[in-house]
Amino acid sequence: MENILYIVVPCYNEEEVLRETAQRLERKLSALTAAGKIGGKSRVLFVNDGSKDGTWPIIKELAGRENSVFTGVSLSRNRGHQNALFAGLMTALEYADATISIDADLQDDLDAMDAMIDMWRDGCDIVYGVRSSRKTDSFMKRATAEGYYKLLGALGCDVVFNHADFRLMNARALHALRQFGESALFLRGLVPMLGFQTGVVEYERLSRFAGESKYSLRKMVQLALDGVFSLSLKPIRLISAVGIGILALSALAFMVMLLRVFLDKPVEGWTLVLASVWAVGGLVLTAAGVLGEYVGRTLMEVKHRPRYIISETAGLK
Ligand code: UDP
Ligand code: MG
Repeated sequence: MENILYIVVPCYNEEEVLRETAQRLERKLSALTAAGKIGGKSRVLFVNDGSKDGTWPIIKELAGRENSVFTGVSLSRNRGHQNALFAGLMTALEYADATISIDADLQDDLDAMDAMIDMWRDGCDIVYGVRSSRKTDSFMKRATAEGYYKLLGALGCDVVFNHADFRLMNARALHALRQFGESALFLRGLVPMLGFQTGVVEYERLSRFAGESKYSLRKMVQLALDGVFSLSLKPIRLISAVGIGILALSALAFMVMLLRVFLDKPVEGWTLVLASVWAVGGLVLTAAGVLGEYVGRTLMEVKHRPRYIISETAGLK
């Protein structure tokens, strides 16, 4: 084995950070090569996720340099971080013995890669980068993110707490990941399903060094929904549980009313009746919504649409 490592970097409108990122990654790669940790054919693979700015021209320019360590693939349109990352991993699989995925803004600590590679060479198939704290996050982001991880845990999903997509995967793990056919990708939930030998490396996450977050609120909510609905069937079961609970309550109310009729104490309180009608109506609609979410997702999945389409590559042989 030549220990070829590919660092996979999804990029969406990242022209502001790309050159600096490339420089830092190149330095890291040559340090790792010089230390004999990885082979000389290791590369950085940028995935252009349908950027509208100068991202792809910069990647092409980087890949075109003499003895360049940079390569790139360009997707035919914006497909979102998870799909772009998946496209990069599957492309890298053709060349690499292992990949490390990292965001283009390098918020994740490059120096954690050394420990990841050591663990890989010691026999780990997957090494998760885990944030040791969330100091650099705003209060809102921290609260929602940690709450979300806990929710997933409560729904029975196996996710690594405070791990995003900074991770090492070797070829064996990537081959296994390739067999998962779903189009709504939530890699954080899928990778733990693979099993294999895993390890964890802790690191401090920094703030973005330039540019703004490319994860809009909409994209974040979409990712959160993909996580819940692709990993868990518990919401459906919850509906049944709530339904049974309400049925029991209404049976009780019915009995009380009957009793009052027998005791010649007419039933009062139309507001209560109205409120409960509305409550039940709301619950029924919510239930229909949750079911619809699963049905809709089933429809999307049975279509088996491609997760990404590569329109161009650079520096890949
Ligand atoms: N990204 C992407 N496609 C998108 C949105 C984001 O490939 O549609 C990439 C982005 O370029 C970056 C990574 O996903 O490399 C994480 O995005 P960002 O740093 O903006 O997210 P945040 O750190 O704010 O959660
Ligand atoms: Mg970021």
